[in-house]
Amino acid sequence: MKTSTCSLLLTGLFSLGSTFASADNTSAALEAFAEGLGLSSSDIAGRAESYDAGGDNVDISCSLLSLLFPESTVLPGAEAVYTSKVGINWSVRAHLTPTCIFSPNATSAAATGVKIAAFLNTPFAIRSGGHTPDPGAASIERGVLFSLENLNEVTVDHENGVARIGPGNRWISVYEKCESEDVLVVGGRVAPVGVGGLVTGGGLSFLSGTEGFAADTVKNFQVVLASGEVVNANATSHSDLWWALKGGSNNFGLITRIDLATIAKPSGLIYGGTLYFLPYQYPAIISAIKAFQEKGQIEDPKAAIISSFIRMPSQSAELLTLQVFHQDPEGTVPPSLQAFFDVGPFQNTASVRPLSSLANEIYAMESVPVARQAFRDLSVGVSEEMYQYAVDLFASTYTALDNVPGFLGSFTYQPISTAMVDVANATGGRAMGVPRVPHVWFCLNAMWAEEADDELVLGTGKAFMEKLAEKSRELGVEEGFFYLNDAAADQGVMESYGEEVVERLRGVSAVYDEGKVFQKLVKGGFKLW
Ligand SMILES: Cc1cc2nc3c(=O)[nH]c(=O)nc-3n(C[C@H](O)[C@H](O)[C@H](O)COP(=O)(O)OP(=O)(O)OC[C@H]3O[C@@H](n4cnc5c(N)ncnc54)[C@H](O)[C@@H]3O)c2cc1C
Repeated sequence: MKTSTCSLLLTGLFSLGSTFASADNTSAALEAFAEGLGLSSSDIAGRAESYDAGGDNVDISCSLLSLLFPESTVLPGAEAVYTSKVGINWSVRAHLTPTCIFSPNATSAAATGVKIAAFLNTPFAIRSGGHTPDPGAASIERGVLFSLENLNEVTVDHENGVARIGPGNRWISVYEKCESEDVLVVGGRVAPVGVGGLVTGGGLSFLSGTEGFAADTVKNFQVVLASGEVVNANATSHSDLWWALKGGSNNFGLITRIDLATIAKPSGLIYGGTLYFLPYQYPAIISAIKAFQEKGQIEDPKAAIISSFIRMPSQSAELLTLQVFHQDPEGTVPPSLQAFFDVGPFQNTASVRPLSSLANEIYAMESVPVARQAFRDLSVGVSEEMYQYAVDLFASTYTALDNVPGFLGSFTYQPISTAMVDVANATGGRAMGVPRVPHVWFCLNAMWAEEADDELVLGTGKAFMEKLAEKSRELGVEEGFFYLNDAAADQGVMESYGEEVVERLRGVSAVYDEGKVFQKLVKGGFKLW
């Protein structure tokens, strides 16, 4: 091996492991393993003694990664790079300090990394865009963080009707590339959100009314299994894994490429924008949302909306933003969306534009200083009374947090149609167990500045959503489904898919990950057991 600054760090790292019990047989096992990776015995000479077959061997894992991939492995000593990589996570709560950060630039490197972690029993986390707010889902305190920003291919294959997308991409790069080739894919609505997490968590898109969730449009997942083997999961090969990954998140392997079906769309042009409303208009908007779910969305599935009630005490502002969207760029207000315009927005940006422009607009609108963030969600059936109750409770609950520094609360209504759910019948099914009725996914997003307020903000959010769940039971509109991508760590996402699905997912895990590497070593996220 070439000597590099990284190998100088090895000495220090290995000395950290000197307290581990050593045994000839375990040292020999490590030496044999390292040799299998192409390292000579002199590369690890004098270091294998620290190997502890029962320990987490995290320092050894980081050392092997540094030896094999010096350009892709960052240790805390490399302050500026390390700090900027830690800061990729959207929420400050998720800015944990991994023992090392490994950013593979090829599938083969990612596979070697997984092999190392699995062999050495080292905890690891997988991060694509890092937009999960809870700590530990895509970040780790002691262990290896696989940070996938270098897996950023976007290739449009017109002949096969797919875009091959590295999971480390943000949707904005995907859309810009696709638009330049006159196609679109089904993905996130906000520019910087990551591909890997959104797709494996389901993926609600502006295009979902006709195309289903992003996961439904996956033609192929390229996956590194716990053994380090790389497989393609699709309709004809490893189809059980393909199904499981559509909502199964990080439970089965590390995904290194996702092939999404493309939709022809010249220059990516759509119709869309944001309408802004004031609190006195909320009841009218709520009626219009209900009517949209009962008629507009059914008769015109190419139309979509997402509405967020926002409290921004620092600006003394309370408002509602409502994105309107239509797949056909007609230039006039689509009849299915007219009712929202009739309420009289005080500002309106709707126009014909590329999807990337809308994704950027929403991002710019949502941009706040780097903050502590939390999500929590709930699904409820269509009910004007429920929707109005929720927005009233949001206002009355959150006045109590007006003095929390940096507080911003956003409470979002995302209408889900039966047609969206049914798309999976034609696309090989999905693990994500969405109720087959029109309903809404509520998502609460709280942002704040100081750790000292964590308990207050998180506790308030939990109590607020529990009250909503209680009300939904009272009104008979409880759906019991938690959408993975908007859920808090303590919400029973997998259980909400239903017992049968969970059993099937566990079966898939037993086939592809017998040693439960992605359950025991990848601790963050929503697990199967
Ligand atoms: C501003 C904002 C806007 C959003 N808009 C939408 C939206 O329009 N539609 C929607 O459905 N959701 C949306 N979300 C939610 C979003 O889908 C989730 O936050 C999602 O996790 C983001 O993906 P990511 O790659 O950034 O996630 P990460 O935080 O990197 O990962 C999320 C989870 O997936 C796992 N994972 C990630 N990549 C891989 C991989 N390659 N292999 C195996 N496991 C992996 C991680 O380990 C982690 O547990 C939004 C979130 C934010 C903050």
